[in-house]
Amino acid sequence: MGFFFGAALVAAAVVLFILQPVVKGLHASLVRAEDELTDTEARKKVALLALRDVEYDYLAGKLDENDYRSLKSELTVEALAALEADEAARAALADGQASGDVDLEAEIARVRSKLKAGPLCPSCGYANEEGSRFCSACGSPLLTQVAG
Ligand SMILES: [Zn+2]
Repeated sequence: MGFFFGAALVAAAVVLFILQPVVKGLHASLVRAEDELTDTEARKKVALLALRDVEYDYLAGKLDENDYRSLKSELTVEALAALEADEAARAALADGQASGDVDLEAEIARVRSKLKAGPLCPSCGYANEEGSRFCSACGSPLLTQVAG
């Protein structure tokens, strides 16, 4: 019993060592809610859980050595492919969000500077766009300085 327990601990330690990056990735993806998983995250999770099940089944004696090795190599290939796909999707998403933020802020700055340059309505105080002759809010004629 003592020997079996020790051997099982060693086997578990070896498995954890081999799977360390994988287990960390799984933990990170489990922190978020189930319905927030993207397609690639879901694929990664499924692959990692299947890999974990194979390890458990093997340790529990439900799989023989040959089945374990072939299943594990198949699932490891799938898990690695899923991890790479997820990394690629994540990078693409980060790029998209970064450029989207810049565009939105540039647009806000552009609108603000335009409003600042435009005439304020003497009637209601609305900041109209530059060149407006009538207030966009209340329709009052604006006191515009006509150049030239
Ligand atoms: Zn007005």
